Amino acid sequence: MLIKEIVKNILRSPYKKLFWALGSSRLSDFVFPGHKSQFLILMYHRVLPSSQITNNYIDLTMGLEKFEAQIRLISQRYLPISIEDLSIDDREGNKNIHLPVVITFDDGYRDNLVYALPILKRYNVPATIYVTTSYPDGNGTVWWYEVCDIIKDNEYLNFRYREKKYEFRLNNDLDRKNAYIELVKLFFYMTPSAQTELLSIIRDADKRPKSRCYRNLFLSWDEIKILAQEPLITIGAHTHRHYNLSMLDYDLLKEEILLSMHRLEEEIGIEIKHFAYPFGGDGFVTDREYEIVKKLEFRTAVTTYQHSQNEIVDPYQLPRYGMGSFFDEINLKKGLDPFFWKH
Ligand SMILES: [Zn+2]
Repeated sequence: MLIKEIVKNILRSPYKKLFWALGSSRLSDFVFPGHKSQFLILMYHRVLPSSQITNNYIDLTMGLEKFEAQIRLISQRYLPISIEDLSIDDREGNKNIHLPVVITFDDGYRDNLVYALPILKRYNVPATIYVTTSYPDGNGTVWWYEVCDIIKDNEYLNFRYREKKYEFRLNNDLDRKNAYIELVKLFFYMTPSAQTELLSIIRDADKRPKSRCYRNLFLSWDEIKILAQEPLITIGAHTHRHYNLSMLDYDLLKEEILLSMHRLEEEIGIEIKHFAYPFGGDGFVTDREYEIVKKLEFRTAVTTYQHSQNEIVDPYQLPRYGMGSFFDEINLKKGLDPFFWKH
């Protein structure tokens, strides 16, 4: 059967509907007909036991049991490789072997060490952890969790920002989720100074202020050193403060990337060769960001685009697939297998 026909059949298949219903993860894009890649890079953020997962309106946390099922499946059915071993120029050479799958984690959450590492070791699966260095330095802002917690703790949220009045009634989960989505959209596309201003206005509007400290969610430098010594783990950079890079002037852009690289190299004493763009997709990275990462001599950089933007896969624009908490072993297999069928 021609590759085109196989792809067409998959797109007609009952899985398609299921995949589209998955929202942000959109595993259906795995069968995007123009996809030329011969490897897959998967993106995770956090792994926690189900009993510790709270509804944060953002799908950043994978249940421990599901994560283990996924890693077991990847170890048995595919070829888990480190980003260090990703052969971008030799894609044709991979035709008859298992599909290489690269596991990555963004931001540097502590649960990567506590919960994910033992599973990765159990199945001998390598992974890359991209660290945002202001978090172990103890001065990073985690607006996506802080705004979420303020919304969860209040019955209403009223404030004025740059001549516009915002009034959110927060009577139920749907109200809260909608308010969160509206605020996240604002934060995503802001300069750092606008973000700081808006966050401080929202903090002032918080009628149930608490000590909202997020430091413990993240790895300390000592823990990053432990991870860096693990043969299965590669540490990569994810900027210093996790801004939307496309909103920064050139000097700050360069500083954000270089500072994360230098802080990591100072603390763990290993050369940092791999990078992940914060947020990483449309509206967050442009040619300017790809060029600077190349100029700074990183070896690879991952986006959150779900298929290659060009015919040829560029090592500074690697596509990556977000793993939503929905995926168990069965539907992950259904999402990954079409890549075999293309061969
Ligand atoms: Zn990130």
